[in-house]
Amino acid sequence: MATNADLWSRREQAVVRGIGHVTPVSADRAENAELWDVEGRRYIDFAGGIAVLNTGHRHPKVLHAVQDQMARFTHTCFQVVMYEPYIELAEKLNAIAPIGGPLKTALFTTGAEATENAVKIARAATGRSGVVAFTGAFHGRTVLASALTGKVSPYKKGLGPALPEIWHVPFPSGPDAFSVEESLKFLNYIFKADADPSRIAAIIIEPVQGEGGFHQAPPKLMTALRRICDEHGIVLIADEVQTGFGRTAKMFAMEHYDVEPDVICVAKSLAGGFPLSGVIGRASIMDAAEPGGLGGTYAGNPLACAAALAVISVFEEEGLLERSQKLGETLLARMEALRLRNDVVPISGVRGLGAMVAFDIVRERGDTVPDPEATKHVVQRAYENGLILLSCGTSANTIRILVPLTVEENTLDEGLAKLETALMAEAA
Ligand code: PMP
Repeated sequence: MATNADLWSRREQAVVRGIGHVTPVSADRAENAELWDVEGRRYIDFAGGIAVLNTGHRHPKVLHAVQDQMARFTHTCFQVVMYEPYIELAEKLNAIAPIGGPLKTALFTTGAEATENAVKIARAATGRSGVVAFTGAFHGRTVLASALTGKVSPYKKGLGPALPEIWHVPFPSGPDAFSVEESLKFLNYIFKADADPSRIAAIIIEPVQGEGGFHQAPPKLMTALRRICDEHGIVLIADEVQTGFGRTAKMFAMEHYDVEPDVICVAKSLAGGFPLSGVIGRASIMDAAEPGGLGGTYAGNPLACAAALAVISVFEEEGLLERSQKLGETLLARMEALRLRNDVVPISGVRGLGAMVAFDIVRERGDTVPDPEATKHVVQRAYENGLILLSCGTSANTIRILVPLTVEENTLDEGLAKLETALMAEAA
């Protein structure tokens, strides 16, 4: 079998430079929260394929459902010949999404397709074009999704002109520490300087920014956005691509708020490792686009729909929301204990909602000056020590933990010990 080095060199020859990598190894197989590379080296997986594996690698019930579906048919294209798994999944999502009233769902393949289609739907429903998003937000890498994304480098730099009719408001949480009132003032400036609210189709927000550094949108902000959207007929879109599907100890992070969005985007852990995304929302809004205006050849692939239906059952059968809460408490306690130690790299901002837990690596103990270099080293040292770890954050100094919610206790302990070793090695 090829070695990691062989595959790296073939990858360099055959695959574009613009795709970055967290580790230089190639996967051979994986099981729940463990992964083995092509040389047989074992890793604990705290990345979960970037928030895709809340139910772990190869959950037996997910595999079983996919195999059953595979034995019947793998693709028809929903627009050509419909199939029950798509319809059943739409029914389930409509039933569990935290939005009152009749809901409808459209399925797609990637998170970026979900955010783009949510905007298309909002534009169709309102007859307006403007969209407001937040700094530090991540909504995907396709042209419209990257325009919604609130970070220039590396997502937009050199990749074409800015799209019109998209404005960003400072996100009132995280390193810039704007207050909710200041953020709302900026929104008001946009309404005064750039676009009347009657031209705004949608406001899109992640309840907890994922790539932006695991910063939660303050409840006061969400309540104000709901009020502004109601006042001006604007569609409130919650991008739950990273927060969704149980990561925050609720199926949807919007359940932590006492206001409802109009539309929710889901993807990632929705289908336990199969490519699937969805847009769920109020039927009156969702039905605005003309037949043929939405869809996609692979959108709502039957294997992925079967996987997603199994994921929903696994959450119920295995009490994964309770596990998410407990796991979050364990992670927060462990990170907080690390923060207080002098023999690890300086840590600040230990935070989390359910099992969506992160902390920052900073220059000096007690300050908040980001140390992206040390963060990069910690990720590298973790990998060398057999732990796959992800960073994030607008200053690239956040370590985020996206371990499967199904992780065995001893595997979790082993992973946390490896994380501790990496943090100590970087301090030495
Ligand atoms: N929205 C959010 C909140 C995300 O975290 C991501 C992916 N990190 C996306 C959208 C885009 O998803 P995809 O990479 O599947 O297009």
